[in-house]
Amino acid sequence: MEAKKIRSTFIEFFQSKQHQYVPSSPIVVKNDPTLMFTNAGMNQFKDAFLGNETAKYPRVANSQKCLRVSGKHNDLEEVGVDTYHHTMFEMLGNWSFGDYFKKDAIAWAWELLTEVYKLPKDRLYVSVFQGDAGDKLEKDQEAFDLWSQIVPVDRIIMGSKKDNFWEMGDTGPCGPCSEIHVDLRSESEIATIPGRDLVNNDHPQVIEIWNLVFMQFNRLADGSLKELPAKHVDTGMGFERLVRAIQFKSSNYDTDLFKPFLDAIAKKSGKTYGLDEQTDIAFRVIVDHIRAISFTIADGQIPSNNKAGYVIRRILRRAVRYGYTFLGLQQPFLFELTPLIAEYFGDIFPEVRLQQEFIAKVIQEEEASFLRTLDHGLKMLESIKAELNSKGDKIITGKTAFELYDTFGFPLDLTSLIARENGFSVDEKGFAEEMEKQKTRSRAASEQETGDWVIVSEDTGVEFIGYDFTEAYSHIIKHRTITDKKGDRYQLVLDKTPFYAESGGQVGDTGWLISDSEKIRVIDTKKENDLIVHFVEKLPLNPEKRFSAEVDREKRTLTMNNHTATHLLQSALKAVLGDHIQQRGSLVNENLLRFDFSHFGKMTEEEITKVEDIVNSKVRENIHLFEQRNVPIEEAKKMGATALFGEKYGDFVRVITFDKNYSVELCGGTHVPYTSQIGLFKITSEGSISSGVRRIEAITSKAAESYLREQETLVKEIQDLLKNPRDVKKAIEALLQERNELRKEIETLHLEKASGLKSELLKQFVEKDGVNILIAQVELPNADSLKKLAYELKNDVSNAFVVLAAQIEDKPQVAVILEDTLVGSKGLNAGQIVRELAKEIQGGGGGQPFFATAGGKDLSGLGKVVAKAKEMYL
Ligand code: ATP
Ligand code: MG
Repeated sequence: MEAKKIRSTFIEFFQSKQHQYVPSSPIVVKNDPTLMFTNAGMNQFKDAFLGNETAKYPRVANSQKCLRVSGKHNDLEEVGVDTYHHTMFEMLGNWSFGDYFKKDAIAWAWELLTEVYKLPKDRLYVSVFQGDAGDKLEKDQEAFDLWSQIVPVDRIIMGSKKDNFWEMGDTGPCGPCSEIHVDLRSESEIATIPGRDLVNNDHPQVIEIWNLVFMQFNRLADGSLKELPAKHVDTGMGFERLVRAIQFKSSNYDTDLFKPFLDAIAKKSGKTYGLDEQTDIAFRVIVDHIRAISFTIADGQIPSNNKAGYVIRRILRRAVRYGYTFLGLQQPFLFELTPLIAEYFGDIFPEVRLQQEFIAKVIQEEEASFLRTLDHGLKMLESIKAELNSKGDKIITGKTAFELYDTFGFPLDLTSLIARENGFSVDEKGFAEEMEKQKTRSRAASEQETGDWVIVSEDTGVEFIGYDFTEAYSHIIKHRTITDKKGDRYQLVLDKTPFYAESGGQVGDTGWLISDSEKIRVIDTKKENDLIVHFVEKLPLNPEKRFSAEVDREKRTLTMNNHTATHLLQSALKAVLGDHIQQRGSLVNENLLRFDFSHFGKMTEEEITKVEDIVNSKVRENIHLFEQRNVPIEEAKKMGATALFGEKYGDFVRVITFDKNYSVELCGGTHVPYTSQIGLFKITSEGSISSGVRRIEAITSKAAESYLREQETLVKEIQDLLKNPRDVKKAIEALLQERNELRKEIETLHLEKASGLKSELLKQFVEKDGVNILIAQVELPNADSLKKLAYELKNDVSNAFVVLAAQIEDKPQVAVILEDTLVGSKGLNAGQIVRELAKEIQGGGGGQPFFATAGGKDLSGLGKVVAKAKEMYL
């Protein structure tokens, strides 16, 4: 069965059991401080499990894009080395939210694997949670009994907390699980060791394919478990592993999911897959990583220097250096795989097909820049080697290797490889120590402790009313304290809130919570999944009281101006630059708006002016806001609403329209009622932030007015300086012209003076033992003219030896020049002479044996230079 068919069969099977198919949520996580990337199918349902939100459907099936390269689940170092862990993989899942539980989950999993996919029953093993004394948990008898009805007891394995108790992170929903493992070894191998001895033993052919998690608990910050309000099922089956089991291959990479990619790399590198372990690893790393890189870029995460962007950058670099070191790929090559990604995944994940060109561009640029880094590192290594050689040393210290890694991104394995090739070695232990030190440093910097929520009211419904109101009477539902290096910070959740939580680029509201006895400042508002969290300066003394929640209206209004202006800007950019432009990020606050978009090439002045003009004309048109809430997503798409890649949209969306023929966007932000409120729109900068992505910064209303005022003041000040000419521009042009003429005049004067000086000096040469010697003190305008004069004297006089002590502006300089043939004879060497003489002016210098100069600090020493030289050579 082909991979595509295997995937659709899974979905169809669960649809036949009344499951709703939902698309994968983005691989890059927003609004969750505990997670950078989706690492399991359950992430998007976390709120439903925690009871923060009621699930839309009681039963769901999906294929979720997952990435396990950071945090609690990090498989990066295994990837490519083994044949069944990937960075990015698809997790097929079926879900029950307070609906069916263990019985159906177990029965359906077995039915699908053995009757639909027809995996041989005698190759499958299942595991059951054995209990845990520390957590005071009993064995999962219920699961055991259910399994023993369909599987022989000797195929059921009892597992510890490590394998059979699933947790998303340090805190959050969790529960016992049952895994299904498959034995893919040959008959003869099976005859020697029974499969059950190899389950959960890191055997590459006896692997876990499916994990059925029975969500029953919430792990709190103090480590204790609390029963969840309702019980759920969360299953996750690694699609790549399933395909391998069905296609009965000994490696995930031998399935039709990876084969075309391996072939492409083989063709590109001229190497064959399957001949040598080290090259094979490189092949696997590359074909695995290109998926992770493409999918994350498609979901809006561009490689960068921090956080999620840095994780992607590291994955990309890992792929490049494996190609570089083991496959001889020293030019960008990864980007050439993106058409294959589009072809093989475009059906189920259209974002990679629709953005293929953009993804390729970003990858290519990133590869090229890393290859330059590698090149730079190679040169650094050369000089390190030279230095070691000169000391007769053969070991590159851990510190040096770490510096290469840390500052130049030069990986240890490459340093070691090159070192070995040159008869050096690297102190790898020292490197590891440096690495550890750095980790400790960054851990200390980021460590924070999140306290559990303290429940104030049992009320759980949270209502956002900020589109219609900026004030409300509210009650606190819960609060908590977060402690880190900076001290304690406080968060709270309200039953009803007018505070907009940061999202879609728009900053969170600030304001106040006021009761009859207290006034508390709200510093920020952010989302945590779908929860609206208020950051407050202190916790209320009487949290049960009723509070008047008041948004800082001035700030909100200015922010709204900028948000609406961002929409107007996006449409204007499309009109001027073309429909290819896609939003790549945005920031909207009370001071400015920032809009990142895909476009190749710098915008011209005319384009920028055109865009400004269009936006300002839309402002003057005074278009009124047309806001639609709860529009079915399909309908919104039909309306042509602009949506973002990598954004998680629900089934119902909010549509913001300013003239249906001009700007229609899916947006959760706050907007002006009429565009004229924006007043004025002004672009302040346009530039590139990464390959293919441009950034515009702009201001509106008050900020735009102040900006214009500043410009005006500047012109006035210039006018004043120029004594108020009628035409400022002409006056400046005249000044510039005058300056050029003066400069020319000065140059001529210098020349005249220099030639007078020269003829004067020619008369002062003294002959001694066949050498014509001149030792003199002179005054010159600059260092160049000193050099020029020295060369001319040498050319005009045969066998010349000239020492010039010069005053140049306020600094002393010495120049020594010799006829080439004199170098070495009579112990003459310009470099040595100049160094000796420069002592008199407290300076130093050098140059070639026939010409050298020195600068110094002590002008009064020039006379001594002349005297000393005369004493030595005349
Ligand atoms: P393993 O022990 O093999 O690393 P796991 O216990 O980490 O697996 P789960 O967290 O239970 O796996 O995830 C559910 C399923 O997802 C697994 O049964 C497996 O099929 C798949 N899976 C997990 N990690 C990866 C990965 N890095 N690459 C591909 N598939 C994976
Ligand atoms: Mg794992």
